[in-house]
Amino acid sequence: MITPQPPRGLYLHVPFCRSLCPYCDFVVVAGAAAFGPRSRIGGYLRAVEREIDLRAAAVDRSFGALGSALRTGDGTRAPLESLYLGGGTPSLLPEEALAALIARVRDRFGLANGAEVTLECNPGVDERGDARAAVQAGVTRFSIGVQSMNVDALRDLGRRHTPDDVSECVAAVRAAGATSVSIDLLADLPNVSLESWAASLSDAIALDPDHMSVYALTLATDGADAGDADDRLATPAGALAWRARAAAAQDEERGAEELELLDRRLPAAGFDWYEISNWAREGHTSRHNRLYWQRAAVEAVGPGAHAFDGVRRRWNSANLDAWEASLHAGELPPGGADEPLSEEGAAAELLVLSLRMSTGVVRDEAMRGGFGEALRWGESNGLLAPHPDDSTRIQLTLRGRLLSNELFSRIV
Ligand code: SF4
Repeated sequence: MITPQPPRGLYLHVPFCRSLCPYCDFVVVAGAAAFGPRSRIGGYLRAVEREIDLRAAAVDRSFGALGSALRTGDGTRAPLESLYLGGGTPSLLPEEALAALIARVRDRFGLANGAEVTLECNPGVDERGDARAAVQAGVTRFSIGVQSMNVDALRDLGRRHTPDDVSECVAAVRAAGATSVSIDLLADLPNVSLESWAASLSDAIALDPDHMSVYALTLATDGADAGDADDRLATPAGALAWRARAAAAQDEERGAEELELLDRRLPAAGFDWYEISNWAREGHTSRHNRLYWQRAAVEAVGPGAHAFDGVRRRWNSANLDAWEASLHAGELPPGGADEPLSEEGAAAELLVLSLRMSTGVVRDEAMRGGFGEALRWGESNGLLAPHPDDSTRIQLTLRGRLLSNELFSRIV
């Protein structure tokens, strides 16, 4: 039987951005809420500190205090392997506030020696924060929201930064002593030719990052309200109109050519693909994201944040007012939780997550797990093939990475 586990990582959501990008579906409040006299950052910080305390106390009650014998099994309660500050734009936090948050997590949940502490950071001059102060506070890894090195594409996406800002930002985090530098790029951008996209990729590689995440731009056009789950915010009408125009200018075939280009260019530049959308130099895979792909327990705090205890997914309300009001009253925020999956459902989910990664799965074990029909379909249609370094394993082919949803829908 699968039982709840103590968290190995913590996700901390910081919902503030200087301005709202029209394609964004993250839980974000922007403009006056994020800076100036009406900024809500102060109230957020008091609330999130409270949530760290309350969630840590709940974990202690369930599993035992840090370093003590685990109440739920063998071994001792271990400190976190990873802390991820995501958003939003966490680099907007005042430097002393960032340091206080990391210290609080270290104090309440523990951070293992050598734990990965990631800060998402935007490259704009008024968004990137002070990298040196962040490293002093304990940040080891910066994940920089580059998206494109094409100035027109950045403007079209509503981004505040330019390619020059990106170069300055990467130089600043390197000079600050970051252990690992990751950059995010978007593919399948509207009105960007394959040639322009290739030039942007070359400029991104020239920045010499340690890690690259490349996601196809997905444009949800059904977001006029927040939905029943309350874990996302309504999409403004102007953003919905932008998305409709942008979706019409996307090109699936061009997106596929971009992935093929990535698959040639990144290995040639020293990056290994290790997950459908992620490439890394040796020793620089994202430990935090690997926890999600291993279906490990990850705690989460902040509005709209999703947590998993190994059995059940739980989320906080995305509504900043509701989230904050509960915490200021000393209570855990409103939110929801999924019903736990059956053992078979959990095994299917783990198989899909494992297949996302280049390590793939041991073929015979996966076949015995009741997924033979779907896996044989994947093999006979060229989506799965033997792992080049271990013939007992199978992994997604390039075609499989392009068409993974067709395979995954046959598994879950
Ligand atoms: S900067 Fe990032 S998180 Fe903020 S609105 Fe734009 S895409 Fe969303």
